[in-house]
Amino acid sequence: MEAKNLTTKERLQIPPVAMPEQDPRERVRNVSEVPIGYDAAMALTESQRCLQCKNAPCVKGCPVEIDIPAFIKAIVEGKYRDSINKIKETNILPAVCGRVCPQEEQCQKGCVVGKAHKDVDKAVQIGKLERFAADWEMERGEAEVPVIKASTGKRVAVVGSGPAGLTVAADVRREGHEVTVFEALHRPGGVLIYGIPEFRLPKRIVMREVRNLERMGVTVRTNYVVGKTATIDELFDEGFDAVFVATGAGLPLFMRIPGENLNGVYSANEYLTRANLMAAYSFPESDTPIARARNVAVFGGGNVAMDAARTALRLGAENVYLIYRRSKAEMPARVEEVHHAEQEGVQMMLLQNPIRLIGDDDGWVREVECIKMELGEPDASGRRRPVPIEGSEFRVAIDACIVAIGNASNPLVPATTPDIAVNKWGNIVADEETLKTSKKGVYAGGDIVLGAATVILAMGQGRKAAHAINEFLASGAW
Ligand code: FAD
Ligand code: SF4
Ligand code: SF4
Repeated sequence: MEAKNLTTKERLQIPPVAMPEQDPRERVRNVSEVPIGYDAAMALTESQRCLQCKNAPCVKGCPVEIDIPAFIKAIVEGKYRDSINKIKETNILPAVCGRVCPQEEQCQKGCVVGKAHKDVDKAVQIGKLERFAADWEMERGEAEVPVIKASTGKRVAVVGSGPAGLTVAADVRREGHEVTVFEALHRPGGVLIYGIPEFRLPKRIVMREVRNLERMGVTVRTNYVVGKTATIDELFDEGFDAVFVATGAGLPLFMRIPGENLNGVYSANEYLTRANLMAAYSFPESDTPIARARNVAVFGGGNVAMDAARTALRLGAENVYLIYRRSKAEMPARVEEVHHAEQEGVQMMLLQNPIRLIGDDDGWVREVECIKMELGEPDASGRRRPVPIEGSEFRVAIDACIVAIGNASNPLVPATTPDIAVNKWGNIVADEETLKTSKKGVYAGGDIVLGAATVILAMGQGRKAAHAINEFLASGAW
């Protein structure tokens, strides 16, 4: 298929190209990726929908400001190497972002094509095209190692190996500084490895990016808990000149309702970590068990809740109930994730709220008592407040449940480094532009600063922090 010279009208007449997906009946029985990816012909058609706008509002919607019209134009011209290189000027994890960014809220939200159709779903499918370019490069083996400047002799510690930490490691290493990433878990990658399931983000993609960093000369030390194995001050004593803290928001929040300490009640973090990182789906071949429940309730309406519900189906549950206290319109999860969950058979119980978990004599959860809700006036978040309907209580039989109502910041680093200031939610306070904390030489970014946010926002902060760290080390003020 050849690129054609099309008029704006003709471009606007091309419908968005859907990405082929595994059949829902098949995919609930495996952990392989759900969307299969564009082939070259699909990518060409989709990229021809782009109008190459001069002021490109899509770019402003991307937290790392990828030159979107330029990378799409390169796809139209069949210059895939140029396309991926353009993306990588500002984004080191395009295969990840193309898959998991909430594009409808970011780059695609302001797209002129979507606006012309008055439908954000009809915007140019920027994320899918980004994935196409990134996958094209991956299929050609290892990525090119970027140029690393001559050694400066300066040493930077990065605490946490999620998207924020990986971004800083790459950008600081490029300047010629020695970089060590310290990771508490036994595998690097943060939520990309332990949280987001394989069927949404294959682990080989994340491991490839970590390998690329190692090929750039970054040292990754796993099983190293900063605050336990060594404190931040001890890292400075060891000779590090600057520290970037990117420990994320891995502290699960609970509902504080009766019965939450029964057996079979999981936080989404524990459930997903067991399933993803510890390969519990293959127990007893793997060492980690997980409740093989028939009826599972998941509490929450975000991406984490969708991931937990879809994982429960893949672990063999017959009924998975997603219990959410507001309506579908208020769900914070990506539209695509909600759609996939519904296709796979997750049963949405909307405007309902758990109020009590009931166990058997052996202490295992057996029922959840819920109450029906209605929407009242908007609250501080702008969403309509859910209000319980008196006397509407009812019970659902379950044998496991997963609490996915949110996460707070990991508290260990602030607790062991009292001169790092935190706000009332326990997030590290950092300057918006430089990501400098209250402690000299210490920078912080990603979820530990933003609270639970997104991959690309964490990476955006990482970029800013790396820039400031490079300036700090060059200034001789360390
Ligand atoms: P993290 O990815 O949380 O990484 C922090 C790392 O620091 C972890 O590896 C942790 O083990 C390590 N660590 C913590 N404490 C220490 C310590 N003391 N010493 C050493 N290491 C430490 N975002 C999206 O954009 N799209 C999605 O679809 C999406 N889905 C999600 C699904 C789930 C299940 C979850 C939990 C989150 C999801 N998010 C999604 C949010 C996104 O993953 C996060 O915003 C992002 O990963 C934050 O990056 P980070 O680098 O700040 O922290
Ligand atoms: Fe869109 Fe995310 Fe890619 Fe930016 S990184 S262009 S927000 S998909
Ligand atoms: Fe292309 Fe949409 Fe960006 Fe315009 S706003 S350059 S049409 S992706």
